[in-house]
Amino acid sequence: MSLASTTFLPFHRASIDEAEIQAVLEVLKSGWLTSGPRVKEFEAAFANYIGAAHALAVNSCTSALHLALAVDGIREGDEVIIPTMTFAATGETVLYQKARPVLVDCSPDSFHIDVREIERAITPRTRAIVPVHYAGYPCDMDAILQLAERHDLLVIEDAAHAFPSSYKGRMIGTIGHMTCFSFYATKTITTGEGGMITTANPDFADRLRILALHGISRDAWNRYTEKGTWRYDILETGYKYNLTDVQAALGLSQLAKAEELRLRRAAIAAQYSQALSSMDAFCAPPEPNDASHAWHLYVLRVNPTALTIGRDRVIEELKARGIGTSVHFIPLHMHSLYQKQLGYRNGQFPRAEQHFENAVSLPLFPSMTDHDVTRVISALGELSSAFRK
Ligand SMILES: *Cc1c(COP(=O)(O)O)cnc(C)c1O
Repeated sequence: MSLASTTFLPFHRASIDEAEIQAVLEVLKSGWLTSGPRVKEFEAAFANYIGAAHALAVNSCTSALHLALAVDGIREGDEVIIPTMTFAATGETVLYQKARPVLVDCSPDSFHIDVREIERAITPRTRAIVPVHYAGYPCDMDAILQLAERHDLLVIEDAAHAFPSSYKGRMIGTIGHMTCFSFYATKTITTGEGGMITTANPDFADRLRILALHGISRDAWNRYTEKGTWRYDILETGYKYNLTDVQAALGLSQLAKAEELRLRRAAIAAQYSQALSSMDAFCAPPEPNDASHAWHLYVLRVNPTALTIGRDRVIEELKARGIGTSVHFIPLHMHSLYQKQLGYRNGQFPRAEQHFENAVSLPLFPSMTDHDVTRVISALGELSSAFRK
């Protein structure tokens, strides 16, 4: 076995270059650090990029999801349908509103929420559906929107993985009632921490802006500018969810190269899938034919009928060869909170469990070299012959 003699290939490395560094320096030198002109610019540029009517920058996608639920008045006694195959944020934000996250299994052939199972989970208490565009591959939005319309439900998209991507020619961020994006350090574009909500609804947009900054009447940050006034009014209980100008400057530089970054990720994903097509030990992730994929994650599935070792050992063996990986996600219903507080139990969502048990997320970031990609592919090839059944 040729164990790694080269440096460790991390699961992710952000694509930060001179443009980002200069943009941040400029903000630092400007004397205005928190939400101000750069945030306005970032919101306008982001809205323009995807063709959304309104975009509000916030300090995380978690904040974005929380605000979206709050704006719709989701509260105690309400139910919100979410996939069990997601990150903590999708569920905890429902709990912030004292509503109940109703978990739904994956579809048989993908990590996405199963639309037929959503329908079965709808009750008179259901208020909203929060689909997750897992890995950056858009969900079947037509089916979800039809269902939502029939039952008068709000659709809030968790698009933490999905910038930039599109579904049947429409950009993600212009489809559901509100769409929440993440600019966390490992996401497709980053501000370190950050997020964005887009909506076509001007009333949602107004209230989101007020709630994001202390429930204070519009554009509270303006009070420190030449045009501003010191007078303000607190309209309702708000939050401190604003993005800073330092982060927005980073975001603007990242946005400018978002498509270039996506193309590089897509090229790496294509190389992985090409290589995996000749290894029966691993299954490549599905590729959309009516959507464009943001390729935030490349999640392969270990094929237990072809390999003598399981997923955990595959991860260890890749690590021994200097390759970092991750797992997305441990389904929510398998966590203590969901079992103790909400009564979920292991075995309840078998498809999500089966996907989880076999999932490995490979390194996928634009600054990976061709040599890095080849290293990952040869390591997988080594494992598939060394541990063949
Ligand atoms: C990363 C992530 C979030 C949260 O994003 P933050 O910006 O870190 O709050 C939400 N949902 C999913 C599916 C994620 O992967």
